[in-house]
Amino acid sequence: MKTQLAALLATAALLSSTPAFGWGREGHIIIGKLASLHLSSQARSQVAALLNPGETLESVSTWADEVRSNRPESSTWHYINIPITANSSWRKYCPDSGCVVSIIPGMERRLADRSLSRDQRREALFFLVHFIADLHQPMHIADMGDRGGNDVPTVYNSYAGNLHGTWDTGLILGYKQTDAAMFDRIALRAGFWERRRITRGGPEQWIWEAHAISRDVAYPDLPKQRPALLGQDYARAARPHVERQLRRAGLRTASVLNRILGR
Ligand SMILES: [Zn+2]
Repeated sequence: MKTQLAALLATAALLSSTPAFGWGREGHIIIGKLASLHLSSQARSQVAALLNPGETLESVSTWADEVRSNRPESSTWHYINIPITANSSWRKYCPDSGCVVSIIPGMERRLADRSLSRDQRREALFFLVHFIADLHQPMHIADMGDRGGNDVPTVYNSYAGNLHGTWDTGLILGYKQTDAAMFDRIALRAGFWERRRITRGGPEQWIWEAHAISRDVAYPDLPKQRPALLGQDYARAARPHVERQLRRAGLRTASVLNRILGR
């Protein structure tokens, strides 16, 4: 009991002190795993040539968060704050320094460019895998003047944090506590038709799915008090969206890599 409490407090402290940078570790890892599973053999060997021994798409998927403080130019690349009332153009919300929508094509070009060094292409691969994932986190796309929910204090599952972090990590950890098989289910191999349906379009279309989840679920279901106490009702309503976004991100990451490296 004592160790449980200590672990709970440690996790709570970690969650509330860690700045929210995108899906937490769990989200990125499941997306990387799903992507690995769907690489073509050609893309798989190209990816393997860019990774060092022992590295996998899962293990490199959080690198972009780890280097964020050493690479200040990359700090705006993880998100775009589109007001939830907006519904067409994203461009005016993308700063000159770049945003998660604008940065992806550039990283694709770098990864595809065989004249660049292995290190440069490795970095492009790491960034690309990370940003395609972040693009699917609803609070990375939409905003109500609160920095994508970072300024909205929340308590969920006895963790004090904020709305952004709850969607990055808190909800996923909560689901995992009651349903350990969730990750295995999300990481199941997809059939041809599911892949074809899900991988249609590109970042400029995909952001609007995440945006709609913020607009229709993440914000409207939020209790009015602050900190907002998020109960099981909130988590239950969010769940199918979280699972679907993780799955979409994994399959789309694979399809982007297959297109660039599968030749
Ligand atoms: Zn990120």
